[in-house]
Amino acid sequence: MEEILTGKEGERYFLLGNEAIVRGALEAGVDIAALYPGTPMSEIGDVFHALAKSVLDKGEEPSFYFEWSANEKVSLDICIAASLSGLRALCPMKAQGFNVAADSFLDYLTACNLVETDIKGGLVLVCADDPGGTSSVNEQDDRYIPILADVPMLEPSNCQEMKDMTKKAFGIAEELHLPVFLRTVNRVNLSRGDLLFGKLGVPRRKGDIKGVPISFDRTRCHANILKKMEKAKEFSEKSEYNRVIKFDGGKTGHRRIGVVASSISISYAEEIIRELGVEAELLALGFTNPLPEMLCKDFINKFDEIIVVEELSPFLETQFLKMAHEISDKTKIWGKETGHFPRAGEYRLETVAEPLAKVFGMDNPIPRREGSRIELVARALTNCPGCPHRNTYYAIKQVVPKDAIFANDQGCYLLGGLEPYKMSHAQYSMGASIGLACGFQQATGKPSIAFIGDSTFFHNGMSPLANAIHHKYDITVVVMDNGATAMSGFQLHPGTDRDAMGREAISIKIEDVVRGLGATFVEVVNPNNIAETREVFKRAIAHNGVSVVVSKALCRLMENREKRRKGLKITSYEIDQEKCDQCNICIDIYACPAFYEVDDKIYIDDVQCAGCGVCQEVCRVGAIREKGAENG
Ligand code: SF4
Ligand code: SF4
Repeated sequence: MEEILTGKEGERYFLLGNEAIVRGALEAGVDIAALYPGTPMSEIGDVFHALAKSVLDKGEEPSFYFEWSANEKVSLDICIAASLSGLRALCPMKAQGFNVAADSFLDYLTACNLVETDIKGGLVLVCADDPGGTSSVNEQDDRYIPILADVPMLEPSNCQEMKDMTKKAFGIAEELHLPVFLRTVNRVNLSRGDLLFGKLGVPRRKGDIKGVPISFDRTRCHANILKKMEKAKEFSEKSEYNRVIKFDGGKTGHRRIGVVASSISISYAEEIIRELGVEAELLALGFTNPLPEMLCKDFINKFDEIIVVEELSPFLETQFLKMAHEISDKTKIWGKETGHFPRAGEYRLETVAEPLAKVFGMDNPIPRREGSRIELVARALTNCPGCPHRNTYYAIKQVVPKDAIFANDQGCYLLGGLEPYKMSHAQYSMGASIGLACGFQQATGKPSIAFIGDSTFFHNGMSPLANAIHHKYDITVVVMDNGATAMSGFQLHPGTDRDAMGREAISIKIEDVVRGLGATFVEVVNPNNIAETREVFKRAIAHNGVSVVVSKALCRLMENREKRRKGLKITSYEIDQEKCDQCNICIDIYACPAFYEVDDKIYIDDVQCAGCGVCQEVCRVGAIREKGAENG
């Protein structure tokens, strides 16, 4: 990873798309990067964090400042201030993260754009979409944001473009005095590619702000942005990222067909056109807001039919339909509106192959894959072996009233909503659990319980909790504190004692925050002690008003990683078959995935067992023991 900072101009490396973004920012001389982690772009922060730490460990000062911010709005506000002060700032976020930052992004643009010199330092917002929703709650297509906000958008289609466009975006932002929206997708963020390095940039390091660039004349501000976007059109027309690729495959037909694509679909379309062996042209679009209208219309004019290939919404297609209509309506546009391409789901080569072959009137060049003959073991989606969240759910399940309603949140603890715990009636966005529990309690009068993680609590949990306390709701809030933003890769948050630069930081205790907000019932418990946790929950649920339980135990993966680092042994557990009465509580009710059953006998899988030992408390007959322990 060091090569991202030390690699020289002209050298080549095989890097992840997210790593390429960091290199691009460093080549642009980025001064500040701030973000809240979220798949598929968390590695951007992981790399900045690792680079900053390695430089500091050598006793040197990093050329940039990096932080894991408490949420996306905070990270964007920090970057906006840096930009207004003349520094270059990078603010990456996942698609849904933009929803949190939207308030600042949209308001900032209308509030600050009257004076031409307001944005002195380039501001680049990286927005990572997740077609397929592999690690997100939906398939949000954020390409409409730049249209709503009136800002330029770049869309890289491969690893090299991830770097080059990031670097370029800073320059565009400074020329136009507008932030640039760099929209990526998971397949580009998380795939590796050959990357040619450019020269590292020189950060400005110290900024300043003078005068007051804010105007209360909103109409003039709006008109000013529109003027800047007129200039952006010229940039788009001339951009090297909007280009026509010609294919001379030899096969010709009587129809003249052109293909239009953006983002990862460019690579898919290119490959399929080559496979088909046809003569065709592909308009590959990388500067996608505003579109290069003249280039697009020239392209439309050349063809009888145009195929538009893009994931999710018909973003390009709608604009091509409009442009084709303005020209003559003679060109037929094939895409989602004609039913050739799906609007939902992530595209693969196969998704693009069939419709392209159909319109070109040829056989599908990608043969359907035979189903695998290997029988895979079906595995339930569940928390890791030894996860403290399982113990929290196991304990509360035993004391909670039968009619209780559960509101869950965003983090690995949301798996408690699945079998066998099934403790989630609703979960969708960061910090929503507490407001949901209040709403359920108000609407139904039933006991309502909110589950929220430590990082999520700092992200967006404090205001709903203040609201719940102020309005005297009768709910129980369980803060599942495992010491990190675990699901996206163990990133730090305001509760940890180090910051993203590797320096000492003030660790904020959630229980102190909660007490400060006025909660009258606040208890901290170690969920790995199930009996004690159960008793705390009994009291919390019986409490009239907001009760808060901070269920605190380090993520088992982090704990074991630390043990290995220190050379400490991780205990293994086994079943004493003479004592086990095959009640199956450990498998069916407690559900640690390290347990398995063969011929009516229960075993612990050595490979999976994380050595927490909590199952010893779960087993009523004492059949679980440390490996090698004497029969007793
Ligand atoms: S809980 Fe104990 S007795 Fe029951 S199946 Fe598991 S090991 Fe055997
Ligand atoms: S000790 Fe028991 S509960 Fe812990 S990981 Fe191993 S099998 Fe699972």
